[in-house]
Amino acid sequence: QAKDAGRNTTRFFSPAMQMAIESRMALEAALRQALPRDELRLHYQPQFDQNGRCIGAEALLRWQRPDLGLISPIQFIPLAEETGLILPIGRWVVDTAGAQLKAWEAQPATRSLQLAINVSARQFHQPDFVAQVRDSLERSGANPARLKLELTESVVLENADLVIERMQELRALGVGFSMDDFGTGYSSLSYLKRLPLDQLKIDKSFVRDITTDPNDAAIVRAILAMSHSLGLQVLAEGVETEEQQIFLRENGCDAFQGYLFGRPIPIGKWPLDPNQSAFVQTIASEDRLRSA
Ligand code: C2E
Ligand code: MG
Ligand code: MG
Ligand code: MG
Repeated sequence: QAKDAGRNTTRFFSPAMQMAIESRMALEAALRQALPRDELRLHYQPQFDQNGRCIGAEALLRWQRPDLGLISPIQFIPLAEETGLILPIGRWVVDTAGAQLKAWEAQPATRSLQLAINVSARQFHQPDFVAQVRDSLERSGANPARLKLELTESVVLENADLVIERMQELRALGVGFSMDDFGTGYSSLSYLKRLPLDQLKIDKSFVRDITTDPNDAAIVRAILAMSHSLGLQVLAEGVETEEQQIFLRENGCDAFQGYLFGRPIPIGKWPLDPNQSAFVQTIASEDRLRSA
């Protein structure tokens, strides 16, 4: 490795680094083609209320590569953000989600479902982001009130006043907001008070050991109390066990998402009756995401 080569030596890239660079370039080249070649997919992970009723879903991006299979967003979102490819990809996500919402609205059983999409900081900070969302919703004809934008704390870091203003413009369209991965970033509690949010998502890293680690249990209780006093709905992500669900319910958590209830799956595999609380448990789990 070039790192180990020591000081004072002129060194070209080692074969390993050369390979890493080439594979990054290859990945970037392939990612550039992903949209034109129609290789992106949204999978939908159901969300439930306290009564086990399906209230909607989170749309999660996957890249279906003809050569390599299904690629996880963790493996290409960072590169998409670096290269700016996240901008057209993000627009595609907004468009695709709108079309899905419109399709849900056409069926009585799915009419009231909400759809949450993830929005990266770079995407949110485009000057015309509000116009993009508005135009996209106009094209699809979906009800904006059924669309929820999941923002991470990194979005707020840049310029809170601007972010709040933009959120308010989007709220005026009817769009809702969720703070994703709450607790993992750097945002201060004072932002939480100022941001026009509807929902806060407790990150799965806090949920994981909730029944065994008293610290995590205390953190989650505190998040619930604080959020509720701010008027925010709380959704717990990464709920994998019955015990976690019971703890969360007993402590007043409003909504749930996790493998216990259902994995992200292509929409074609969704049963249409959201009143069947246990319906997703019977669904075959998503194809294993491939690690590159
Ligand atoms: P996220 O928004 O926090 O999404 C939740 C992640 O947790 C998803 O991973 C989901 O599949 C996973 N998950 C759900 N339930 C469970 C569970 O019970 N246990 C465990 N261990 N994991 C669970 P995924 O699909 O790999 O997505 C990873 C991240 O990629 C997302 O985290 C989000 O930050 C990002 N991402 C996904 N789709 C998009 C997109 O369309 N745009 C942008 N900008 N980012 C996206
Ligand atoms: Mg999310
Ligand atoms: Mg999350
Ligand atoms: Mg997360």
